[in-house]
Amino acid sequence: MTKEILESQSKKLEEILQYVNTNSSYYNRIFQENGIDISLIKSPGDLSVIPFTTKDDLARYNDDFLCVPKTKIADFVTTSGTLSDPVAFYLTDKDVQRLANNEAEAFRCANGSENDIYQLMTTIDRRFMAGLAYWMGARKMGAGMIRVGPGAPFLQWESIQRFSPTVLIAIPSFIPRLIEYAEANGIDYKSSSVKSVLCIGEPIRNPDFTYNELGKRITSQWDVQLFSTYASTEMGAAFTECQEGKGGHLNPDLLILEVVDESGNVVGEGEMGEVVVTTLGVEGMPLLRYRTGDLCHVYYQPCDCGRSSTRLGPVVGRKQQMIKFKGTTIFPPALFDVLDMVPEIDLYQVVVSKNEFGNDEITILLTMNLETALFKEKLHSLFKSRLRVTPALQFITAQELNHLIFKQEKRKPEKLIYL
Ligand SMILES: [Zn+2]
Repeated sequence: MTKEILESQSKKLEEILQYVNTNSSYYNRIFQENGIDISLIKSPGDLSVIPFTTKDDLARYNDDFLCVPKTKIADFVTTSGTLSDPVAFYLTDKDVQRLANNEAEAFRCANGSENDIYQLMTTIDRRFMAGLAYWMGARKMGAGMIRVGPGAPFLQWESIQRFSPTVLIAIPSFIPRLIEYAEANGIDYKSSSVKSVLCIGEPIRNPDFTYNELGKRITSQWDVQLFSTYASTEMGAAFTECQEGKGGHLNPDLLILEVVDESGNVVGEGEMGEVVVTTLGVEGMPLLRYRTGDLCHVYYQPCDCGRSSTRLGPVVGRKQQMIKFKGTTIFPPALFDVLDMVPEIDLYQVVVSKNEFGNDEITILLTMNLETALFKEKLHSLFKSRLRVTPALQFITAQELNHLIFKQEKRKPEKLIYL
């Protein structure tokens, strides 16, 4: 982090502290209750006197975070709510512009330019912030966009052939389905116009930056460059990989980042900790020291691309999603990674439940056509060698499984559920 960045962040931090002290009933109360004198907080290093804001705080006091009258809200969004009810998030016109700046910068970081055409394979409605951000970002950068939305492989290929997009914006686990569809229907995907995929919502790399099984599966079949991103509604900003593929770059104009250990202390170069953000320049619902629950490795050293901004490795897991399974601690992405290794598996859902003793149980739902002794043995030994655990397997019809994974009211496929 350069001196210029630090000075600019410090100035924006002072502004946001004044602003929330006056306009956010939640933070005004926190400052009073904890006897915090905000005039003493001069730079990101002084932030530690402010308590963390948790997901629970945000859910419980949702509207207390809002700093403007409701008539000033331009867009109403909600968080994804994987583990809890979705929380409301309010964006003013200025916040929507901030989102556009964030995404234009993210596209550029992933080698994008005004000459690119993006094909959007996520929803732009359903109170989803990211879809809006992509569209605004493309407008800001001057690139074109084809809004196809999720699923619909036929329409995706028809759009690719018709409009020649250069970049796909997609949940990476959808790409193998797209390739399969092309193969089954004689579409020459290998010579298509697509040169890269901006991957959202799921990691495509291991913590050492090599491709994980999903990343390998895609790139072994199709010569496209994958760029991973990490973002959330609460941050209103994205960490995006450059062509080096060594972690997502922080946009220091939009966020102050802290990566902390169990005791709340900042971790060192290459270490793993929980991602904590303070949002800069937000008008509707600014957040101070927000604990995302996401665990990532952090890199402070300058990147080979020339940027000196801090980078985050792939999300290893969510703190609340840690599974204690027969004495082993695992995160769901490690289970997905094993399942993504198996070419026969097209669809799966991981179900985490508690047994009568309060311990976690893991069941993998798969399609019935795989229910053979040979396959079960193969999968069991794969899990045992990779993770030293053997989850229960349950087989149901493809139709039932499809129904469980692709729910109408959900914005993303449900690869993981908690009972
Ligand atoms: Zn870089």
